[in-house]
Amino acid sequence: MSLKKVLIVNKSYPVVGFGVLLSGSKQNILQYLDYEPESLPEIKKNIEGCDALIWNTKHQLTPEILDLAGPQLKAVSSMSSGLDHIRVEELKKRGIALGNCPHVLDNAVADIAVGLLIGAARKFKAGIRELESGQWKYGVQWSTGLDIAGSTVGIIGLGGIGQAIVRRLKGFDVARFLYSGRSDKPQAKALGAERVPLEHLLKESNYVVLACPLTNETQNLINADTLKLMKKNSVLVNIGRGGLIDQNALYDALKGNHIFAAGLDVVTPEPLPKDHPLISLPNCFILPHLGSATIETRNAMASIAANNILLALEGKSMLFPAY
Ligand code: NAP
Repeated sequence: MSLKKVLIVNKSYPVVGFGVLLSGSKQNILQYLDYEPESLPEIKKNIEGCDALIWNTKHQLTPEILDLAGPQLKAVSSMSSGLDHIRVEELKKRGIALGNCPHVLDNAVADIAVGLLIGAARKFKAGIRELESGQWKYGVQWSTGLDIAGSTVGIIGLGGIGQAIVRRLKGFDVARFLYSGRSDKPQAKALGAERVPLEHLLKESNYVVLACPLTNETQNLINADTLKLMKKNSVLVNIGRGGLIDQNALYDALKGNHIFAAGLDVVTPEPLPKDHPLISLPNCFILPHLGSATIETRNAMASIAANNILLALEGKSMLFPAY
């Protein structure tokens, strides 16, 4: 059986993934490259003749790159849940198997969502700034934030991560969970979450959490118009993708205190330049895309990505096929 060439676009790909790839029935030739933005020319140079790719979210997987790889390319696995960086229809058209790594990251990302929600509602960023600049003040009105108990939480996208967020927040005595999405989720009943139209969710919620994919439909879902629907004392949390939010409109809403605060794990672009206006705002609590960044979760993702590839190279269905 001929050796297969697998290109891993990630120099810090967890070793557990290599183990899986090398345990295949036939030995595979592995090559790995960095996935920093400046490494794209190197990736393009080395991709010719690859049978499979383990791809990351930093680079768009475009038809041009697929052409450079060549017609033998059989399988692509993204080490992510979201697939907004991949032209899914194009791969499908070319008969290339595509898979991702959902579910294993639900808990880790939901933890970060809850962290952002508390951090934004309880003014972590403003407090830390004042602490670090010697401005720590006293007073019953100093640095007062918002309660979670008794609140309404609206989840936009009640998928794997959205459901894990609700499970966690149930321990916080939330009064009502709402969600919006394209379809009813059978799990919603057990979670006590009610499906409502987006507009209703935005008007009713004290906390709005974005946990949906970035698609043509969801691009700039949060914009000047939708922000106006939100309560003045509401908090926006985004663990989906930066492109879900029109950041200029968010800046205006936060600066003008039209909403209370935002907690963002994802932004556009990534990395966000340090002089970006959102960073200057004390009520915009930003994390550098830490959602799935735990040792256990990244190992599990690497293992799934590798298994997706091995299975596809053996002509079998991937663990998590995109179609
Ligand atoms: P998932 O299980 O596929 O869930 C996505 C949910 O979004 C589904 O319930 C889907 O509902 C819903 N949805 C789709 N289109 C929607 C729309 N227009 N409006 C509202 N909801 C919509 O995916 P997941 O694993 O939870 O991940 C969700 C997203 O989080 C990913 O796509 C990715 O962008 C992001 N993510 C971020 C991190 C991070 O590190 N911050 C990590 C993993 C994932 P329907 O079935 O009804 O369409």
